[in-house]
Amino acid sequence: MLDNLTQRLAKVVKTMRGEARLTESNTAEMLREVRLALLEADVALPAVREFIAKVKEKSVGEEVIGSLTPGQALVGVVQRELASLMGADLGPEASQLNFATQPPAIILMAGLQGAGKTTTVGKLAKYLRENTKKKVLTVSADVYRPAAIGQLETVTAQAGADFFPTKTTDKPVDIALAALDYAKRHFHDVLIIDTAGRLGIDEAMMQEISAVHAAVKPIETLFVVDAMLGQDAINTAKAFSDALPLTGIVLTKLDGDSRGGAALSVRHITGKPIKFAGVAEKLDGLEAFDPSRMANRILG
Ligand code: GDP
Repeated sequence: MLDNLTQRLAKVVKTMRGEARLTESNTAEMLREVRLALLEADVALPAVREFIAKVKEKSVGEEVIGSLTPGQALVGVVQRELASLMGADLGPEASQLNFATQPPAIILMAGLQGAGKTTTVGKLAKYLRENTKKKVLTVSADVYRPAAIGQLETVTAQAGADFFPTKTTDKPVDIALAALDYAKRHFHDVLIIDTAGRLGIDEAMMQEISAVHAAVKPIETLFVVDAMLGQDAINTAKAFSDALPLTGIVLTKLDGDSRGGAALSVRHITGKPIKFAGVAEKLDGLEAFDPSRMANRILG
């Protein structure tokens, strides 16, 4: 079991009791521990560097109040800064979906295959039906994997929402437009569009999802990313963020044993709020994202 950050820093600061402030020199050694803790949590290096630079800027010269040791003071700065980077300063509404549009509000799901998109569509459909009483239609724009369409149909039925069948001979753009037309005529409040995901980033896939985006102009474009992806999350997030104007992130598989460093990497690249966390395979395993809790988890 790894030591948590407080324990690690406690070891470092044993030698520096009595210093009243955080200084360049006593901060440097502690920041090395913070850096290691973040790398162990699988945060990608560029995100670690940016974070350390921020903490350094905030902590040097900060008064140590009362009985706090410099180590405790630094842990405080690290925790606050990490929670802020996770979105704590954005306020609770940052994790809410935007419905301020003429219905149906369209939600486009993007992400690699296996990230949890289809499962998340089912979870969102259930969440929206139960919490907001919205009438939800789902459609799959994945024309390559009939099994994925079947999976969407199943989770949609479990969520008690409506499903628009996909003709795999049609183009993804035409499928999305047909579903939109159907949703308008049947007074659906929300249309959730699931899309094809490849195992890796690929240009054709990006063009295809960009074309769907341009055709239906979704109010929400959610990037679904597996928390277990670790450091690779940064490259995936960059590719999707470059191709699409993302509005939010869904971080899945947080019930796994990853420390969730992917959250920081993805925030670093996209700057978009993490709106939801996937915490189970089953359809009620979706939670509003909690930045402070995530910060504590990353710090171990
Ligand atoms: P897609 O290819 O992006 O549509 O991914 P799927 O929705 O098919 O999910 C891939 C696998 O991850 C499936 O076995 C899901 O049950 C599983 N999965 C998705 N979200 C979660 C989650 O939050 N927790 C866990 N434990 N499993 C998940």
